Amino acid sequence: MLDLPVHKGRRLKLISELEHKGIQNKAVLEAMKRVPRHWYFPKDFENLAYRDAAFPIGHDQTISQPYTVAFQTQLIDVEVDSKVLEIGTGSGYQAAVLAELGVQLYSIEYVKPLLQEAARLLVSYRDKIKLIHGDGSKGYSKYAPYDAIIVTAGAPTIPQELMKQLKIGGRLVIPVGTERNSQEMFRITRNSETHFKREKFGDFKFVPLVGKDGWL
Ligand code: SAH
Repeated sequence: MLDLPVHKGRRLKLISELEHKGIQNKAVLEAMKRVPRHWYFPKDFENLAYRDAAFPIGHDQTISQPYTVAFQTQLIDVEVDSKVLEIGTGSGYQAAVLAELGVQLYSIEYVKPLLQEAARLLVSYRDKIKLIHGDGSKGYSKYAPYDAIIVTAGAPTIPQELMKQLKIGGRLVIPVGTERNSQEMFRITRNSETHFKREKFGDFKFVPLVGKDGWL
């Protein structure tokens, strides 16, 4: 796969656009500069990869908008070696950005062909990313607790099980809404065994989180 000067040029322009839209975390911006987003796009549409927009990737799913990826990545507030669970691998783009930040990532995806394609694209990160096929609406208890959980699909409510899988001090970032295609971004921080802080960060549009604790 190629990453030509023309791609790099468009990518730098996109990242400075994100900065103008209010993304401030330098590590996040630098990580996004390193990930060729066009690799995660359907072949014939690579030329659209450096617009700040979501795009269909088949199976009724989308690659998230770059601004949304930056926003959620900034909110989970991770460091090198943080243990992170991503729910909704999709194209693999968000996973690549997290791997570039140096986290140890577990990423779970419901749609098998999407996971297989993402696995192919993420092969160079195989020491950093473990991909899992299944329903992530109840998290993934096998590797819990996590420093951070990032949900990249819209949930009807905040699944309790996800809160339980956070370390003390851990953060859950999840879009939640009573409609399938419109959500508010929440960050839940686990302050102690039983106390959770809840913050809200504005409106977003995600594809629905399906599964047991998602939309049916
Ligand atoms: N992070 C992705 C965004 C993909 S869109 C990216 O960077 O491209 C959200 C993804 O969540 C879709 O691929 C969808 O199949 C997946 N998804 C929805 N419900 C899920 C569930 N319960 N468990 C795992 N994945 C789920």
